[in-house]
Amino acid sequence: MNRPPYRRVDDIVAYNFWAELYCPACVIEAMIAAGIAAPAARDMPIEDALDQCAEALGIDRADEHSFDSHDFPKDVFVDQVYDDDRCGGCRQPF
Ligand SMILES: [Zn+2]
Repeated sequence: MNRPPYRRVDDIVAYNFWAELYCPACVIEAMIAAGIAAPAARDMPIEDALDQCAEALGIDRADEHSFDSHDFPKDVFVDQVYDDDRCGGCRQPF
């Protein structure tokens, strides 16, 4: 086993949306641009904003196989990014 048996919210470093990786700040901007988040989401903790938007869309974030990353951002964990990955918004490394 080279993976931990479970993953925690603290281990989320990015979000996969429309075939791009985004940091938390940029994924909100991408969601607002896509029309699935309200501008007020900028003022919320990222996970609260995602949970609220998912609920409004009828998306079950806990079951990532139940939705597509074109419909809603998927969590990306620290062991799923590479050193040369960059945010699709601000181009910062994760
Ligand atoms: Zn970014």
